[in-house]
Amino acid sequence: MQKTLVLIKPDAFGKNHAGDILKIYEDAGFKIIAAKVMKMTPELAAKHYVEHIGRPYYPALVEFMTAAPIMAVVLAGEDVIKKVRELNGATNPAEAAEGTVRKLYAQDKTKNAVHASDSETSAAREIPIFFGACEIFD
Ligand code: ADP
Ligand code: MG
Repeated sequence: MQKTLVLIKPDAFGKNHAGDILKIYEDAGFKIIAAKVMKMTPELAAKHYVEHIGRPYYPALVEFMTAAPIMAVVLAGEDVIKKVRELNGATNPAEAAEGTVRKLYAQDKTKNAVHASDSETSAAREIPIFFGACEIFD
């Protein structure tokens, strides 16, 4: 079964929307196979967001992601990578479709509620940054 990494970012987690967001994924038929509340350190942020190092928004992104708890989740299901990206909506919440997680719970381009892996390659790289083998039941 295909897997994807979701991060519920500090904005959405801090506003108690973790349950609302997980419900959207569960209602779509996806299974939570790993989950934890954690602190994202700058080192972890640099690993996870390696492609974004050097972009103008990177310092603000790391500041935001490390300042308060996140929830890391692995979801499993058919076509879960593409479908969770669709459920999340556009990176910029102003452009996100009605009913998407980002339309419902995000504020702006940085504080945009959720992360989800964008390909099988990304998911395979990102999941082990957050979870060890004994933390995932697959
Ligand atoms: P996505 O999270 O939709 O895959 P990207 O991979 O392009 O988006 O960017 C990673 C994260 O970096 C975004 O979710 C957002 O928090 C932040 N980000 C991306 N582009 C911008 C931008 N132009 N301005 C501010 N923050 C941005
Ligand atoms: Mg991305």
